[in-house]
Amino acid sequence: MGKARTDVHNFNAGPAALPLEALEQAREELLNYGGSGMSVMEMSHRSAAYEAIHNRAEELLRELLAIPEEYSVLFLQGGASLQFAMVPMNFLAPGRTAAYVLTGSWAEKAYKEAQTVGSVRVSASTKDDNFRRIPSLDEVRTEPGDAYLHITSNETIGGIQWQVFPDTGAVPLVADMSSDILSRPLDVRQFGLIYAGAQKNLGPSGVTVVIVRTDWLEQAATNIPAILRYSTHAKNRSLYNTPPTFAIYTLGLVLQWVQRQGGVAAMQRRSEEKAALLYGVIDESGGFYRGYAEPASRSRMNVTFGLVTPELEKAFLEEAKQAGFVGLNGHRSVGGCRASIYNAVSLDDCRALAEFMRDFQRRRG
Ligand SMILES: *Cc1c(COP(=O)(O)O)cnc(C)c1O
Repeated sequence: MGKARTDVHNFNAGPAALPLEALEQAREELLNYGGSGMSVMEMSHRSAAYEAIHNRAEELLRELLAIPEEYSVLFLQGGASLQFAMVPMNFLAPGRTAAYVLTGSWAEKAYKEAQTVGSVRVSASTKDDNFRRIPSLDEVRTEPGDAYLHITSNETIGGIQWQVFPDTGAVPLVADMSSDILSRPLDVRQFGLIYAGAQKNLGPSGVTVVIVRTDWLEQAATNIPAILRYSTHAKNRSLYNTPPTFAIYTLGLVLQWVQRQGGVAAMQRRSEEKAALLYGVIDESGGFYRGYAEPASRSRMNVTFGLVTPELEKAFLEEAKQAGFVGLNGHRSVGGCRASIYNAVSLDDCRALAEFMRDFQRRRG
């Protein structure tokens, strides 16, 4: 028997839940967008109707994140994983070194990819603590000549999140914000470049947002293929080649939804409330549930935990699945349990999960 949407609480890690209102609007407009007589998917990316969609998405993102004028906003493809390569290809010049903070699987992937491009160095790492924490700000070292410092604002797999970002002075700070962008207000001026695959907090997979200081991208490498240069995409306002038009359109609908909810400040309040519900159950369980992250580094997007025995953990995941809780298995590389509670996951979904967890403990604890 097929399930209805209302049968399911979607805690997927990515691609992840989208706001129902955004999906309903996409459905409404699917066959005939705005009286154009066709779907957004069928339109030229050079048409006036698509250009308006494209520009509106950029404007809304600028408004929601208060992105200053001196930054370019790009809609690219290839996921955050392509950014692992594009960042060093553009900004890691020969003779320079880029510094990376290792906080988990995604940071390590970014670091390894950069190693294939040029000279890199570990600025700080919490690997010895099994990536259960974000380093303190004084563990993070930069050298005046560093090409940039790369961090991962939220480690989606381990469930740890930077609470305060390091001040890197003249060294540009680069952040992979794939799994927490738009979940809290930001001071974009702290960063040289921010990138985020859309499929966690912004929209469907297929589009990656890059926010980059325009004067920095103008100093980037020119001896790399045009398609890999940020400057190519900036000059062409992300219309150098055919962009993922439907993904950008859907991202725009998600941004409109965020705006109606009250913007990123409202997203932050909700995230804190949702996370507090789940961490509350973990902390009050007397060790039946065990949070993976050190409390000071806990993510408000990915709540990672285990149960007191492997057998109970297996039973928990199985029963949760039966009860309609989807996506609670930890990443295949680490196991355990993970509830991803991105912007589109409702407070009610989190209340239902918290209640299920308490009930499971009452029955099996
Ligand atoms: C999901 C994720 C990625 C990988 O994104 P792709 O779009 O699959 O390349 C990279 N970094 C972080 C922090 C992520 O959460």
